[in-house]
Amino acid sequence: MLARRSAALGGRRIGTHLPLGVGLARAAERARVIGATAVQVFADNPTAWRRKPDAPAGIDAFRDRLAELDIGPIAIHASYLVNLCGRDDAFWQRSVDTLVAELRMGERYGASFVNVHIGSHRGLGRAAGIGRLATGLREIQDRVGRAPHLPALVLENSAGTGDGVGCRLEDLTEILEEAVRAGVDIERVGFCLDTAHLWGAGYPVDDPDEVDRLLGRFDAELGAGYLRMLHLNDSRAPLGSRRDRHEHIGAGLIGGRGMTAFLTHPRLADVPAYLETPGMDAGYDAVNMERVRRLIARSGSPRLLAAAFSLPRERHARKTR
Ligand SMILES: [Zn+2]
Ligand SMILES: [Zn+2]
Repeated sequence: MLARRSAALGGRRIGTHLPLGVGLARAAERARVIGATAVQVFADNPTAWRRKPDAPAGIDAFRDRLAELDIGPIAIHASYLVNLCGRDDAFWQRSVDTLVAELRMGERYGASFVNVHIGSHRGLGRAAGIGRLATGLREIQDRVGRAPHLPALVLENSAGTGDGVGCRLEDLTEILEEAVRAGVDIERVGFCLDTAHLWGAGYPVDDPDEVDRLLGRFDAELGAGYLRMLHLNDSRAPLGSRRDRHEHIGAGLIGGRGMTAFLTHPRLADVPAYLETPGMDAGYDAVNMERVRRLIARSGSPRLLAAAFSLPRERHARKTR
């Protein structure tokens, strides 16, 4: 069963963002049922600041069950409110506090990554925003210390909405350079590329050659080791629109060819991919995992019924300051 699940995904680590509303034990079983080989979760309410000080009941069983099923790495998606690039000091400090809490809780989950949106400079300007971010990363690392099982802090590219920082590869390079200058241990930091955000930012990743070129540039300009995870999402926002609207795999404007390029590119064989497609808690987690398997097997992506396109949108808060 384990081998079969992995083989159907070309041996890759691919999973979904798992809603934990059903409880940790059922969530772990859901990961098994849908054939995931990796999972992402929120460790707490993604639209609130307050982090629960204590780990939830059942966390050890959750971690052990996933390990037993060979499902991992686990990624924690941090609160959407976090913004390390903005000008408001109180907001910035809360963001630092929240990420410290997420990293510590991530360790309890056995997570390899805490994923966070890069943030928004809010009129400070891109360079100053990146400076604030680098200082924040340094402060977070100073506070969490060097416990051996702390997750890596993974910064996610943006679609460039509003004053969003990090929508171009050049931004990511600059973030890395600025982090080095600020004394950040960059081996404990990395990047997540969200395919829908790349598309929104103007990278035409519906074309496999463009995907190849983009990955080549990432490796040449940043270094291969810094690509820690992918968010695999199709998009319903136009190319270069700087908007972020996730769509079912192969059913959006990136489409099956582009999605297949990410799912089969040899460069990405060891980079875990997490789906954040619509309707995760309405059964579409299984639907999209099946669509992934079919694209990997090159057996096309079946048409979805109209109901699949009128699901409530995933929440991508813009409340950052
Ligand atoms: Zn994402
Ligand atoms: Zn998104």
